[in-house]
Amino acid sequence: MDTKSMSAVLPLDPLEIGSESSKDPPAVKLSPVASERSEPFSVNHTAPFMRSTWHKDPTKTSISNPLGWVAYRTMLKGEARPREGKVAVHPLWTQHVFILSRAIAPIAIQYISMKYFHLSWPIWMAVIVYSIAYIAILAMTVVRLNALTLKHGFLDGHVPRDGIPDVRLKSTVIGLLFFVTVRPLMYCLVAYDRFEMPYITPWLPVHVFLFTTILDFWFYIYHRAMHEVDFLWRFHKTHHMAKHPIPLLAAFSDHVQELMDSFVIHMFAYFVYPLDFFTLWICAIYIEYVELCGHSGVRLFCNHPVSGPILRPFDMDLSVEDHDLHHRHGWRKSFNYGKQTRVWDKLFGTTRARVEMAEENLDR
Ligand SMILES: [Zn+2]
Ligand SMILES: [Zn+2]
Repeated sequence: MDTKSMSAVLPLDPLEIGSESSKDPPAVKLSPVASERSEPFSVNHTAPFMRSTWHKDPTKTSISNPLGWVAYRTMLKGEARPREGKVAVHPLWTQHVFILSRAIAPIAIQYISMKYFHLSWPIWMAVIVYSIAYIAILAMTVVRLNALTLKHGFLDGHVPRDGIPDVRLKSTVIGLLFFVTVRPLMYCLVAYDRFEMPYITPWLPVHVFLFTTILDFWFYIYHRAMHEVDFLWRFHKTHHMAKHPIPLLAAFSDHVQELMDSFVIHMFAYFVYPLDFFTLWICAIYIEYVELCGHSGVRLFCNHPVSGPILRPFDMDLSVEDHDLHHRHGWRKSFNYGKQTRVWDKLFGTTRARVEMAEENLDR
């Protein structure tokens, strides 16, 4: 069935699904039939809107369709079997090595070109290099999360994850491209100085912790308002059609939400806590990594690499399951609004207890 004919039987807009009061999610069936359990992505899933079959159609995944190809190449290939028992804990140092080795690469290239070739990059060149680096790091993070998922399985593993819906393939990939191009462009515009020699401050952990916590404050207010204000919920509802998201569904949203997530919230944080370009860039990679982890559903305790150990004694640290529960059980009324920490959820009383990643179920 092609997209056109499918649209004749499927509602194209999630606002058309369920009651307009939106107090409850559309009728969903969370348990798949047994024959579907070997599928990494749902075939006949929760709501008809989330039907994801396009990756089985070569005409939609071939190189002749660049967007489909991009999405297909970064999707999980293989089976993630349901897992029981204790949840493994991902060492912090491996996450830091992964993030910093990639985040520092474009800074090192710029340093070498300035120091040894006396080339100062004009802003347009910085935009191009850092945008390419940002896209590459995003893709590598998704591939890494896929590999971890094949090894450790998914949370709530008896239910298949949501794939990119047939009816929103194009807009989801465009949303992803929007995310990965707007953020580097924005950082360059507000903080880049072509004559500043690239460097890494020894205060980097402090800056990452403070910047991400401040950013999360603005995100908390914005995200909670999206749930609780009638007018705003309609823009956030699309993102919540995914009950068991995968990393690429971080960009599955309405365009108003894309603009806020990728641009406005970051600007608010920057104006409260301005940073030099290179520190801001590394903060951005940590933020992107944590956002993708939060939508991966990987059954692995990936604490926030920087703020995790600081906030853990106060039970304010963020791990994969927190945002996964926000999707799985949250609709109009929800919880776990933070996406970098649980500081603001704790302070405002909107946390929800972890299930598989409860302290006693961690394999420490
Ligand atoms: Zn939400
Ligand atoms: Zn989400």
